[in-house]
Amino acid sequence: MKLFDPEQFRQKFPLIASYDQTLSVQSDSKIGLIYFDNAATTQKPQQVIDSQQEYYQGYNANVHRASHHLSNKATYAFEKSRSLVQVFIGAQSVKEIIWTKGATESINIVVQSLARNTLKAGDEIVLCASEHHANIVPWQMVAEQTGAVIKIMPLNRQGYIDITKIDTIISDKTKFVSCAHISNVLGRINPIKQIIAKAKSVGAISLIDGAQAVAHLPIDVQALDCDFYVFSAHKMYGPTGIGVLYGKKSLLESMPPYQGGGEMIKTVSFTQGSRYNSLPFKFEAGTPNIAGVIGLGESITFLTPLLNDVAKDYQDYEQKLVAYCYQALSSIEEVQFIREGCPDIAVIAFTLTDHHNHDVATTLDTYGVAIRAGHHCAMPLMAQLKLDGCLRVSLAAYNTTAEIDYFIATLRKILQSDLSPHDDLRVVAGKEQDKTKAGDLTKVLATEMAGIIALFTKTKGWDSRHREIMLLGKKLTRMDKALRNETTIITGCESLAWLKVELTSQGLYLFTADSDAKIIRGLLVIVLAAYNNKTAKQIADFDINSYFKQLGLMQHLSPSRGNGLLAIVDKIRLFATPV
Ligand code: PLP
Repeated sequence: MKLFDPEQFRQKFPLIASYDQTLSVQSDSKIGLIYFDNAATTQKPQQVIDSQQEYYQGYNANVHRASHHLSNKATYAFEKSRSLVQVFIGAQSVKEIIWTKGATESINIVVQSLARNTLKAGDEIVLCASEHHANIVPWQMVAEQTGAVIKIMPLNRQGYIDITKIDTIISDKTKFVSCAHISNVLGRINPIKQIIAKAKSVGAISLIDGAQAVAHLPIDVQALDCDFYVFSAHKMYGPTGIGVLYGKKSLLESMPPYQGGGEMIKTVSFTQGSRYNSLPFKFEAGTPNIAGVIGLGESITFLTPLLNDVAKDYQDYEQKLVAYCYQALSSIEEVQFIREGCPDIAVIAFTLTDHHNHDVATTLDTYGVAIRAGHHCAMPLMAQLKLDGCLRVSLAAYNTTAEIDYFIATLRKILQSDLSPHDDLRVVAGKEQDKTKAGDLTKVLATEMAGIIALFTKTKGWDSRHREIMLLGKKLTRMDKALRNETTIITGCESLAWLKVELTSQGLYLFTADSDAKIIRGLLVIVLAAYNNKTAKQIADFDINSYFKQLGLMQHLSPSRGNGLLAIVDKIRLFATPV
C-alpha cells in the first residue's frame, strides 16, 4: 500500500519548499513564510505551474475554433480537463461540467439563469447561517428581483447545520436550498445528504457550495444527488480565476444562457436571431481561461491519488495537523474558539480575549506567519456570534507540526508583549494638543509629521514599519466611549474606527480619531499628523499618496479591504470639502 509522505508532498510546492524549516522563536532570524491561510487559497504545486507555462510556451492557441494543429492541441488539453473534472466529482456526463471564474460565478449563473426565471413572489430560498457571502448576496439580489423570501437554517452548538430544524424551514414553499458543504469559518462538514434529500422531497432545487470541500473529501455528485455543485480551482492547488459549475443535464438544458457572445452559439443572424450551442458551451461565452482550465486539470491529476490511493493517510495527516493545532491553541488562556471541538477539516476560527484580531494577525505576519483576520466573508455569522471578526488558521497537508509549534510559540510571545489594549495609551495628537497653546499647535503637528517621515525613512522593511506603527498606536489618546458612536463611526474599515471633526474659528480642521485595533490607531496618528489643523483647501491639496509612498506604506494599504485606512482618508476629505 502506498503511503502519504508529508515531506515529499511539501517539496512539490516551490513557494513553500523554498523556506527553511529550522524554526526558532528565540532567534530573531527572519523565518520567511508559514502559510496558514489555505482556506483563502492554497499554494500551487510545480506540476500545476508547469502545465500552464507549457501551454503558453508550447501550444498557445484559442480552443475549438481554428483548424490548425496548435488549436487542436489546446482544445484537446482543454477538453481533457473537463473529463478529469467529470470523473473527479462523479458527474454523469462532461456536458454537466461548465467552466466559470470560480464558485462565486457558478452560484451567480444558477441564480440569474434559473432562479430569476422561475421564482415568484412569496417563494422561499433556504440558506444556512454560516454561508460565505458568495452564497448569500446573489440570492438576496434575486429575492429583490422576484419578491422571493430568504429563510435561514440555524446551526447547532457544534457549528453544523441543525438537521433537527430542517423540517420547519424547508417546506412546500421552498424552491431553492443552497448551502456550503463545509463552512469556511467553522470547518464542519454539513449534513448535506439529508438536506439535499429534504429539498428533493418538497420539489426544491439544491445547490452545494463545495469551495472548502474539494481539496479534502472525495466528491460524488450522483451519490449526493444534488442538482448543482460548485467549486473553485484555487482552493484545491489549482490556478485562480477558474472554477466549475456542475449541474444536472436536464436542469442545465432548461436554463437560458447566462451571457451572450462567441462560443455559446450555433448560428447568429440579423434576421433570424441566434441559436444557442449545446451543453456545456451554451454557458461559456467568449474565449475561456484556457491556461486556467489546463491548470485545473493538472490540479485534479495531482489531487486524485490523494483522495483515492493514499486517501486514508492524507486525511489522517490533515486530521493530525488540525488536532495538534486545536490542542495547542486550547492551552492558551486567551483563546476563545468560535465553536468548541476540533473541526472536521483544518480550519480553526477563534478570538483572543483583550486582543484585536488585526493587531495579532499583522504582528504574526512580521514573524512570517500568515493567518487571516476579519469577517471571512461571513458577516451574518459574525453578527450572530456578536463578533466583528475573528482569526482563522487554515492548514494544508504541506504544513507541519513544527510550523504549528512555531506559530503557537510566536502567538504566546505576542500575547505576552505590549500588545495589550490595557496599555497606558498616551498621546501624540491628543494630550499634547490639550497641553499646547493654540498658536503652537501648527508647529507641533508639522514637527510631528516631519518626525514621522524621519522615523519611517530610517526603517527598513515591513517588519520594522509595522513595529513603529504599533508604537504610534500606543500614543493615540482613546476617544471618549460616548463619542464612539453611530455618528462618528467610519464604514469601510474592517476594524471599528471613529472620527470626530471640529472646525476652529480660524477655519482650521481638528480631527480626533480612534479604533479598536492598535495597528489602525497607529495609522491614524500618521494620517492625523498630515491633516490636522489645516484648512479645507490644504486638506484637498495634500498629496496623501506621496506621503504614504514616502513612508513606504503604499503596498500595505489595499483600497478594497486591508485596513480601511483609505476609508478614513476619504472621510476626512469629505468633511473638509472646500466650498
Ligand atoms: N464559498 C466558500 C465556502 C468559500 O470559502 C469561498 C471563498 O473563500 C467562496 C464560496 C468563494 O470562492 P471564490 O472567491 O473562489 O469564487
